[in-house]
Amino acid sequence: MRSILIAGNWKMNFTEKQAIDFLKNLNIENKNIELLICPPFISISAMSKILKNSFIKWGAQNVYPEKFGAFTGEISPIMLSELGCSYVICGHSERRDIFNENNEIIVKKVLSVIDEKMTPILCVGENEKDIKEGKALLKIKTQIESVFSKISKNEKIIPVVAYEPVWAIGTGKSATPEYAQKIAQNIRNYIANIHGETYAESVRILYGGSVNSLNISDFIKEKDIDGALIGGASLDTAKFREIYNKVILTQGV
Ligand code: PEP
Repeated sequence: MRSILIAGNWKMNFTEKQAIDFLKNLNIENKNIELLICPPFISISAMSKILKNSFIKWGAQNVYPEKFGAFTGEISPIMLSELGCSYVICGHSERRDIFNENNEIIVKKVLSVIDEKMTPILCVGENEKDIKEGKALLKIKTQIESVFSKISKNEKIIPVVAYEPVWAIGTGKSATPEYAQKIAQNIRNYIANIHGETYAESVRILYGGSVNSLNISDFIKEKDIDGALIGGASLDTAKFREIYNKVILTQGV
């Protein structure tokens, strides 16, 4: 049985002071669903001190896949692990599109995160051009295969996959739960073809793209969707709390 994960991706938002204020105002009482916040790197240390006795986990939005060295401006998995990060987002579409990250570098990131005993959240998804050209599934299949074929079936840390249609990110136009389910099912099949059914059944697949408190329940009711990666709505304590409370209600926990 897969557990639900609700993850916030703050992107390049909030100063350290704003991040601390956010946590002070979040006020989440029920602790029965896994909750994660990925702030900008500079706030991780301060957040880790505030959250160390809380059920709320923290993670990073990106990483450079080397331990130390001459990589000006980069942050290594060892640094993130020492700060207590549980998860690291790898291959977000903004990293792929704005910073030209390809599957080759993303697999290195995923492996480096696993090496430091953190869980990668691998983002995959199609853009509008892929859909027009009839290549949406092929793109996602390649993104999935390039990473999972490089991970041992016996590795204890199993990456989380975030299915994020690029056209739905930050647009207010989410995918329908049925559409997201169909793609999530395909993703699970691609993983099963590499590592078998049992492994694939244990992979958590999140949906991301304009998630809000009105649509979250319908997404997590789908068979292959195990939570959400949330951008915009994770920046507002009331909206984020409302989403979390909807998940609690839907799951009856
Ligand atoms: C994201 O950035 O991963 C995301 C899903 O953003 P939003 O929720 O704003 O669409």
